[in-house]
Amino acid sequence: MNNTPHKGKVYLVGAGPGDPNLITLRGKFLLERAEVVVYDYLANSKLLNHAPAEAELVYVGKKGGGLHAMSQEEINRLLVEHGLTGKRVVRLKGGDPFIFGRGAEEIEELVKAGIPFEVVPGVTSATAAATYAGIPITHRDYTASVAFVTGHEAPGKTESNVAWDKLATGAGTIVVYMGIKNLPVITKKLIDNGRSPDTPVAVVRWASTPQQRSVVGTLATITEVVAQAKIAPPALVIIGEVVKLRETIDWYEHRPLFGKRIIVTRTREQASELVSKLEEYGAECLEYPTIHIEAVGEADSAVLDAALTDLATYNWLLFTSLNAVTYFFKRLQEKGLDSRALAPCKIAVVGKATGDELGKYGLCADLLPEKFTGEGLAEALIAAGEVQGKRFLLPRALKAMDILPEMLEDAGGAVTVAPVYQNVPPQGRKDELRTELRSGTVDVITFTSSSTFTNFLTMLDAKDEAELHELLHDKVKIAVIGPVTAETVRKQGLKVDIQPERYTIDDLADAIAAQCRSKASV
Ligand code: SAH
Repeated sequence: MNNTPHKGKVYLVGAGPGDPNLITLRGKFLLERAEVVVYDYLANSKLLNHAPAEAELVYVGKKGGGLHAMSQEEINRLLVEHGLTGKRVVRLKGGDPFIFGRGAEEIEELVKAGIPFEVVPGVTSATAAATYAGIPITHRDYTASVAFVTGHEAPGKTESNVAWDKLATGAGTIVVYMGIKNLPVITKKLIDNGRSPDTPVAVVRWASTPQQRSVVGTLATITEVVAQAKIAPPALVIIGEVVKLRETIDWYEHRPLFGKRIIVTRTREQASELVSKLEEYGAECLEYPTIHIEAVGEADSAVLDAALTDLATYNWLLFTSLNAVTYFFKRLQEKGLDSRALAPCKIAVVGKATGDELGKYGLCADLLPEKFTGEGLAEALIAAGEVQGKRFLLPRALKAMDILPEMLEDAGGAVTVAPVYQNVPPQGRKDELRTELRSGTVDVITFTSSSTFTNFLTMLDAKDEAELHELLHDKVKIAVIGPVTAETVRKQGLKVDIQPERYTIDDLADAIAAQCRSKASV
């Protein structure tokens, strides 16, 4: 064995049941600092996004009852090997590492090899499945005890380690892990040993994920129900009177967008707000950044640079997007200035999000139009008598529509258009995107600006109109934030299915929820 001293450590981290938000803070902290991550099938791969880009990611598979990508012995050996290299190794395990997770076996090998370790608990799938299926596993009126049991014991055992005879009437609630294959045997043993055949039973598959599916029956019927519904592992069986409470408490599967798959096309920087809103409604979001935003080059910055030396001559500073605010202030700071330089000007913003962004620099807008468009902004300024003879500075995208400056100039204003940022289509993920669309499992695509749409088309790279329509077929609803984006979509011969009345991210999410209400919530 290698005798070189090592400072490495192996962390067995519970990944939680599926929902990537259910990892512990300690688990996330360790992932963010991992040099190697060894993960398996039940750990949500989204969690790997917490790991540093340069971390080595090792998939060790393990599907219950199916093909094992790697045997437990091989996994143990792998952990020891990585541990001996002196690295920080995170062993990410589904649920809790010590609940039917063979965590102890991995640790025994680490101890033998003298490798330091730590264990971080996780939310086990039994409690998550119960919670997300609307079943409290204990309840004062129904049960004061709960048993976690495996339905799949080590191969080769002749006698069961599970005392089904005693459990049958000894535990109020029984939660069975890995119990799908043996469900007929398990239910029979419980009934034979005195549990009522009418005892309610729920089976929950892929708990706490957008693929969650639950079915309910009784000890007598559940085997048939599961077969009919074709429920395959991974699933948990929850047995006991508490299952009845699901009728009242079930919430997760009732959210308006539960089970819906939505493509969110935004800049990576801006995706999170829409994604979190849609996820709260139960949707599964597939994020495809179609725009990469960056500052304009030095040559294009010249207009703004000149205006910055001359700010006192402007009456109004106009912001028509959040990015305009961000990149305007970036340049301002690069020039050694800060918000105080804007004191001579009044400020108008096109909408709430832009106004909120401005707030980050300690500034409040003097004007916010009722209609959140460039046109709405021009109308509001004209109505306020603030255009005739006034000078406007408009920092914005390199390529943008001219309605706002044209309307202001027509009304007697003077507008300096200063490009501060530009959109560039990002590369990659084209094949993945096309496969997703062809699979017919995408319900909605969102577009929050004309350029996200045009860049999306570039990314999709359809060879002709026929292929475009084949990819964006009728089953995929197109949701846009406002009329300008809608127009851009229609110009391509595509139809817009969802468009909110007000052009905000919240309204867009609400409009999608209103149109797509999943059947469960009717
Ligand atoms: N250590 C894990 C359990 C691993 S055993 C934990 O604490 O949850 C694997 C079994 O766990 C599966 O066969 C299934 O019964 C259950 N399981 C794990 N994740 C699940 C999920 N998201 N939904 C339903 N069952 C799950």
